[in-house]
Amino acid sequence: QITIDKIAAGEVIERPASIVKELVENAIDAGASLVTIEIKDGGISFIRITDNGSGIERADVRNAFLRHSTSKIQNVEDLAYISSLGFRGEALSSIAAVTQTELITKTKEEMNGTRYVIEGGQEKLLEDTGAPNGTTFLIRQLFYNVPARRKFLKTPMTEAGHIQDLLMHLALSHPEVCFQFINNGQEKLRTSGNGKLKDVIYQIYGRDVAANLLDIDFEKGGIHITGYLGKPVITRGNRNFENFFVNGRYVKSSMISKSVEDAYKDFVMQHKFPFVVLHFHVNGEEVDVNVHPTKMELRFQKQQEVYSAVFEGVHRKLLEPEL
Ligand code: ADP
Ligand code: MG
Repeated sequence: QITIDKIAAGEVIERPASIVKELVENAIDAGASLVTIEIKDGGISFIRITDNGSGIERADVRNAFLRHSTSKIQNVEDLAYISSLGFRGEALSSIAAVTQTELITKTKEEMNGTRYVIEGGQEKLLEDTGAPNGTTFLIRQLFYNVPARRKFLKTPMTEAGHIQDLLMHLALSHPEVCFQFINNGQEKLRTSGNGKLKDVIYQIYGRDVAANLLDIDFEKGGIHITGYLGKPVITRGNRNFENFFVNGRYVKSSMISKSVEDAYKDFVMQHKFPFVVLHFHVNGEEVDVNVHPTKMELRFQKQQEVYSAVFEGVHRKLLEPEL
């Protein structure tokens, strides 16, 4: 069991940012309106994530750390197949398998909170504790028991950068959640959680960007595009300013990038890339999700339709007289 958890962990947990992603998504699933993320050493030695969500009932705590889909995995060969379907219900067991994990949680119905400690997949402690409603995870010493993987981690600065990027994207897809990110005691990101995407953009990118936005709301062929386009006066030398979300999830898509850049072509200098935050609302059946769960590059069934919807929506907006 522990060996399979460790192997499974390798598929889900690549680096500290993978842990932050799973735990923050769990907090959002639990209805949290406030999520605080604190890291040290790029998250390699320390990650603390606190939310004000539902909490986990004492009776469910152990269960939350069991792989929900044990029967799916018979042997190591199956892993390749399972990874193509996506791991669900495996995050906590995977994280606990390769770290020293501590959980403090309380539901609003319970008098007492629960403290649970599990290290390398081995339960160490389950006890009562005083706690506010919600959940705190403390994750220490990633891959302390898998030296071969620990070796492949990058510098704390690089790992912290991955976490910062991830949290920017989570904040841009959840304007209704207040995020606070603290790296080595320094606040790096704080969003208000007031539900306004434009305010999140201001909080992440600052006044220059927020003051130069065009809002877009365009629909064509079942593809609904909303969000903001940076005016051509704000550009970057790389694609880091392009943010795409499909049905609420951050994705990378070279096809969408190409389409946006083609639409901007007549308005920006060569080798300059626009600022955009675009949310796509599409029918799930038109998105090919058959990619590795931890990879973000995705494909659409109707590539050509998506390309032309994006191009038309963006190009039309850029031609509007207010420019
Ligand atoms: P999944 O999210 O796919 O169900 P996970 O391993 O990520 O699987 O989490 C297991 C379970 O633990 C969740 O289904 C949820 O019931 C519970 N859980 C995890 N994190 C939280 C949290 N922050 N708040 C409340 N419940 C949580
Ligand atoms: Mg989860």
